[in-house]
Amino acid sequence: MSDSPTYAGRHRVRAVVAPRRRASSVLPTATAATLILTAGAVSLAQGAAGDPRTPTTNAVSALDLSVEQVVVVRQQEAAEVATTTELAQRRQASALDASAVHGRVEAQQRAARVEARRAALEAKRKAAEKKRKVAQAAARAKAERLSRRWVEAIHTGRLTSDFGPRWGKNHDGLDIGAPEGTPLFAMSKGTVVLSDEVPSFGNKIEIRYWDGTVSWYGHLSRRDVRTGDTVMPGDQVGLVGNTGHSFGAHLHLEIHLTAGDHPVDPAPWLLRKGIAVG
Ligand SMILES: [Zn+2]
Repeated sequence: MSDSPTYAGRHRVRAVVAPRRRASSVLPTATAATLILTAGAVSLAQGAAGDPRTPTTNAVSALDLSVEQVVVVRQQEAAEVATTTELAQRRQASALDASAVHGRVEAQQRAARVEARRAALEAKRKAAEKKRKVAQAAARAKAERLSRRWVEAIHTGRLTSDFGPRWGKNHDGLDIGAPEGTPLFAMSKGTVVLSDEVPSFGNKIEIRYWDGTVSWYGHLSRRDVRTGDTVMPGDQVGLVGNTGHSFGAHLHLEIHLTAGDHPVDPAPWLLRKGIAVG
C-alpha cells in the first residue's frame, strides 16, 4: 500500500506542508535557530545513511527547502512522533492502571462473594447444629421421662396375701399368685443390687430404682438379670416360681423406701405410682 504512487504523493504533501505552517512560529530567535541547526545536522546525516523516512527527506530536498526549514520540518516530525509515542504510552499506562484497578475491584468482589458464601454456609451449619442439639436434648428428656415412668411388676396375678401381721409375725410384702413361669418386670429405671438364691426367699432379685426405692422379688423360678445390671421400666428380670419358703407359685413383693430392711406396705405405694395391685 505504501508503494502506491497516490498514497506516496499524499504522504509527501502532508509531511511537507503541515510542518511549514508551524515553522514560522518556531523559527524566530537566533539561539533557537542554532539549536535547531545542530539537531538538524545530525538528523539529516542519519537520514542519508538509510533512515526509513528517506522518501520524506527526498521530498523535502525536492521541494528545494532551506536547511533551516528542513531542520524545522524534521524536528516537528520528531516532536510529533515523540508526542504520539508518549500519548500512546500514557494511554497504555492508563489502560494498565484501569485494568489493575478493575482487577483489584474484581478480586475484592470475588473475595466478598466467597466470604458471603462461607458465612452463609457457617450460619446454615450452626442452625443445623443447634436444631440437632435441641432435638438431642428433647430426645434425652423424653428418654429420661420414659425411663422414670413406673410399670407393673407382673401383668397377671391375684393378690393372695396383704402386707401386715400374719401367723404371729409381720408379712413384709404382698403375695401375688400367678402360674409358674409368669414374667416379672423391673418397675422403673434402676440397678439390680441383688440377684441370688437365698434362704426363705429362694431366687431373689433386689432392684434399687432411680428414686432410691428398693423392690424385692422372691420365690422366682428363674432370674434373668445379674447383680449390677441396669434395668429399664418393663425389662424382664425373671419368672414367677415356688423356690424358698413357699407354698405354691407366687411373687412375694416387698418395697423398701431406703436401702436395708425397712419394708412399707406396697399397696398404697404402688397406687401412688399409678400401678394397680392384683
Ligand atoms: Zn410373701
